[in-house]
Amino acid sequence: MLIIKTTEALQRQLHAWQKNAKTIGFVPTMGALHEGHLSLVRAAAADSDIVVCSIFVNPTQFNDPTDYAKYPVTIENDIRLLAEEEVDLLYLPAVSELYPSGTHDLETYDLGNLNSEMEGRFRPGHFQGVCQVMKRLLEKVHPTKLFMGQKDYQQCLVVQRLIQIIGLSTALVICPTVRENGGLAMSSRNMRLPPDSRKEAEALYRELKSLAEAAFKTPLEEAKAQAVASLEAKGITVEYIQLADATSLQLLQTWSSDRQMVVLAAIFIAGIRLIDNLLVER
Ligand code: AMP
Repeated sequence: MLIIKTTEALQRQLHAWQKNAKTIGFVPTMGALHEGHLSLVRAAAADSDIVVCSIFVNPTQFNDPTDYAKYPVTIENDIRLLAEEEVDLLYLPAVSELYPSGTHDLETYDLGNLNSEMEGRFRPGHFQGVCQVMKRLLEKVHPTKLFMGQKDYQQCLVVQRLIQIIGLSTALVICPTVRENGGLAMSSRNMRLPPDSRKEAEALYRELKSLAEAAFKTPLEEAKAQAVASLEAKGITVEYIQLADATSLQLLQTWSSDRQMVVLAAIFIAGIRLIDNLLVER
């Protein structure tokens, strides 16, 4: 596995592969890697000739500076984990490499409702930061396919929109959410959960599952209220729990049989913010 820190070296290597018509699968991450990230790497390896992975904790996507300061960094372990997988190149840029003119006064993107609902609403500026970093990474790597996790469902739709806006030919592949045995979606932030809270956090998946299973049987508002009540009874703060159209992410007020639907939620448990989502089976 090549480890590269500069754009110049990255592009020299990528050109050599592209000249030989190799397909490139790209897995961008912020490190603190777990099985969820590795599942993306494996999906990329099964599909593409070359796998490029990046680790970069992007300062522009943190709306909360303490969250950025506390974001777990486990780079040595990450490199070891990736070296055990079929990763050809690990890109480790410095902030100045991706943002040579600094991180202020950057471009913005018209993300429509994706920027104003759920993660867009509760984390102002977050998706602009995601787009700013993804634009820079995608234009440097120019992958054939980009592998991202359903765990961050709204982010996947944002990046899909970014790819359209900047006119790239990259295809986005959304990979299933990898969960712990109890159903908790794997996340780098889980490392910060105290052991008791980790068990409690499993309620998020359970409630999303109950909500999705209540489709067409229980009125949506009633099913949502039950989910909120049972999470709050465990001392969990619910930021949002919503039903949305899975393609547009337009919020829905009733179950709808003529489209794919998704339930999404964000909670705080022991001061840690967790998100999860499930597609509603038809
Ligand atoms: P992050 O390092 O949190 O920015 O995540 C990097 C990529 O890994 C994103 O595409 C995430 O959606 C994906 N990812 C994170 N957690 C999981 C998970 N539990 N299952 C599948 N993909 C995940």
